[in-house]
Amino acid sequence: MSLPFIYTHSSGLKHDTGPGHPECPERLQTLLDLFDELGLETITAPEAETEWIARCHPMRYIEAVMEAMPDRGLAQIDADTIASPGTWIAALHAAGAVCQAVEDVLAGKTGRAFCAVRPPGHHAEPSRSMGFCLFNNVFIGALHAQTLGAQKIAIVDFDVHHGNGSDVMARAHENVFYISTHQWPLYPGTGGPGDQVPERVLNIPLPTGTNSAAFRAAYEEKAFPALEAFGPDLLMISAGFDAHKDDPLAQMDLVEDDFEWVTRGLCRIVPRAVSVLEGGYNLPALKSGVAAHLRGLAE
Ligand SMILES: [Zn+2]
Repeated sequence: MSLPFIYTHSSGLKHDTGPGHPECPERLQTLLDLFDELGLETITAPEAETEWIARCHPMRYIEAVMEAMPDRGLAQIDADTIASPGTWIAALHAAGAVCQAVEDVLAGKTGRAFCAVRPPGHHAEPSRSMGFCLFNNVFIGALHAQTLGAQKIAIVDFDVHHGNGSDVMARAHENVFYISTHQWPLYPGTGGPGDQVPERVLNIPLPTGTNSAAFRAAYEEKAFPALEAFGPDLLMISAGFDAHKDDPLAQMDLVEDDFEWVTRGLCRIVPRAVSVLEGGYNLPALKSGVAAHLRGLAE
């Protein structure tokens, strides 16, 4: 059994969101500790080139984000998105990690990759930062994969929140299919029942209190068949661990085994996979959830 390649950068520890913020540097430190405990070496992420980010976000937006970065202290980007002097470089490494992972998987260096990055990305719309997200890391990776010859990309998002940014982008880009399970209603409010476009967007909203059995049924009955029918060249995963029962930001009732189960099921359908960290705000649940996810990604 071989575990996935891990892509990360210590700059993610310097993206400071201020006291009491759930999307905190300790999230990444917890995962770096996990990789140490598992004896897993990590690959140092490069910075994303501006042109890679610009496939998803207009240049004027990228420049506005850069200009909003503080020289010292903290800057409020939106209601709950905070930037510090270390944020810009962390954001470049977050997107860069995903692009490097995509390159390595498509080149056959590994079949599976996990990107331990922050800030997260799936709420970032083309011209709007929100929900702790500045650049849409997973979608930047999907479009990077297309430039390298992969034609059809599926993004499966099991973060407890709907990835509104990825949803919007999937409607605008051909051959990227966004499939999301999420608690609904919940922040950001999008992705409700019936909100779907064939082979572009499949939203599977789940009620408060959704447990392991109902979560797995949603995948077996809806997500897995849709993924199989689409037949992507590459699977990308928006891996959030905030649907865990102990997470403070949501009310779903998953346990760590569910993350291994869903990951294994997805990779059985699409063997080449790049997974990208999104949410997960209870540190022990994040750690055990990522450990389970890595087991599911193992080949
Ligand atoms: Zn989330």
